Amino acid sequence: MRLSRYFLPVLKETPSEAQIVSHRYMLRAGMIKQASAGIYSWLPLGYKVLRNIERIVHEEQVRAGHIPMLMPTLQSADLWRESGRYDDYGEEMLRISDRHGRDMLYGPTNEELITDIFRSHVSSYRDLPLTLYHIQWKFRDEIRPRFGVMRGREFLMKDGYNFDLTKEDALHAYNRHLVSYLRSYERMGLQAIPMRADGGPIGGDYTHEFLVLAETGESEVFYDSEITDLKFGDREIDYDDVAQCQAVLEEFTSRYARTDETHDAALFDKVPEARRRSARGIEVGQIFYFGTKYSEAMGANVQGPDGKSVPVHMGSHGIGVSRLLGAIIEASHDEKGIIWPEGVTPFHVGIVNLKTGDAEADAACESLYKSFTALGLEPLYDDTNERAGGKFATMDLIGLPWRITVGPRGLKNGVVELTSRRTGESEELPPEQAVARITAIYGLASA
Ligand code: ATP
Ligand code: MG
Repeated sequence: MRLSRYFLPVLKETPSEAQIVSHRYMLRAGMIKQASAGIYSWLPLGYKVLRNIERIVHEEQVRAGHIPMLMPTLQSADLWRESGRYDDYGEEMLRISDRHGRDMLYGPTNEELITDIFRSHVSSYRDLPLTLYHIQWKFRDEIRPRFGVMRGREFLMKDGYNFDLTKEDALHAYNRHLVSYLRSYERMGLQAIPMRADGGPIGGDYTHEFLVLAETGESEVFYDSEITDLKFGDREIDYDDVAQCQAVLEEFTSRYARTDETHDAALFDKVPEARRRSARGIEVGQIFYFGTKYSEAMGANVQGPDGKSVPVHMGSHGIGVSRLLGAIIEASHDEKGIIWPEGVTPFHVGIVNLKTGDAEADAACESLYKSFTALGLEPLYDDTNERAGGKFATMDLIGLPWRITVGPRGLKNGVVELTSRRTGESEELPPEQAVARITAIYGLASA
C-alpha cells in the first residue's frame, strides 16, 4: 500500500476521552472511530489487525478439529424463553421488536441458537463429538462502556460450542479449547494465563478465564509467579490425544492462578511468599463446561449406544477478538506508539522515502515495494511529501515492527537502513539483504 493512496487519518492531538494507552493509540493511529457509546467503526488500519487476529483464531480452531459456521446477530426471544435466560439476562440484553410485534434480541452469546440447530439435526451418538464455532458481532448493553474496544457494547467474539455424549468427552473438548487458545494467544505475541474463574450468568462447574497481565486490566488476579515462565511454543499437538491435551491442561493450571471471584486467601498463602503476585489483568477469553444445562432445558438429546435417549454434555468457549487489539497494545507499546507483534501487524514492513521526488530514492523504494509484494508481503510505503520527522513519527505511532529507510545519501553507498520498532536498533545494508532479512523474519524463503 502506498500511503499517498491509503486512508490513515492519524491524529496529532491526544484525544481527551481516552483514558488508557490502547484507546489513545487506536484513535491517534486512525484505527477506529466511535460511532456511538461503545460502538466503533473499524477504519482500514484497525480493520486489518482485526482480520489478522480473526485469521489466527480460525486457523487454530480448525487445527483443533472445530468446525466454522455463522449464526445471525439477531435472534428470536422464544428460544431464550425456553432456556429461561430471556428474563435472567437483564438489561445487558438489547431487546427489539419487529414490525409484527415479535420479540427479538441482538445476541449477547449463542448457546440457545446453537442448541436449537443441534437438536434439529443431530439425534445419534454416532454424530458426536461435535464442536461448532463462529466469529460474529455480539451486543451487550454494558452499563459503562469504556476503554475503547476493550469494553464495547458491540464487539467481535469467537464463540464455540461442543456437544458430547459423556462428561469425559466434553472435558476433552474443554482441554482442546484450552490448548488451542494457548497457541492462538502466543501467535498474537501475547501471554494469556488461564486462571480459575467463576461461572457467571452462563453457569458452570469448570471454567477458566485467560488473562493478559496489564495495569489497566479490569480484573484483579492472584498467581504464582512461576506460571509466567510457561511457554506453549511450537510443540506438536495431536488434538485427538486425550492424555496429551490433559497433560497440557495440568501443566498450565496446576499452579495457583485465580481471579478475585474465586480467590482463596488460605490456599494462596501456601504459595511461597517470594512467588506470590497480585496484579491486574485483561480477560481475553473464557472456556466453560456446563454439562446438560441447555440440552436438558431445550431437549437436545441423542440416542446413546444402548438405545437410550440422553441429553448431551456441552461447553462454550469464547475469545474476545476485538478486545484483543486493546490487550495487545496494552502489552506492547512505548511512548511513541504501538509495537505490533509480527503475528498480527497490519503491514509487514514500512518503507520511508526520505526524499520523495529524488529519482534514485523513488526508484529504490519502488523496487523494494515490488520485491516485497512479489514475495507475498505487504509493505506500507510512505511516498508522501511530508518531512522525514513526520514520517518517522507516523511509522512509530502505527507500530509496524520493521522499517526500511531509503535516502540519497545511503544509496550512494548502496545501502538502506533497517530498523526494529521494538529495540530501535538500526543497521545499514544493501536493499536486497534488507528484503531477505524481512522475508526470513516472516518465515518465507526469499527469491
Ligand atoms: P467481562 O467479564 O469482561 O464482562 P464476560 O466474562 O462477560 O466478560 P464472556 O461471556 O466470557 O465475557 O465472553 C467471551 C469474551 O468476550 C471475554 O473473555 C472477553 O474477552 C470478550 N468480551 C466480553 N464482553 C466484552 C465487551 N463488552 N467488549 C469487548 N469484549 C468483550
Ligand atoms: Mg468471561
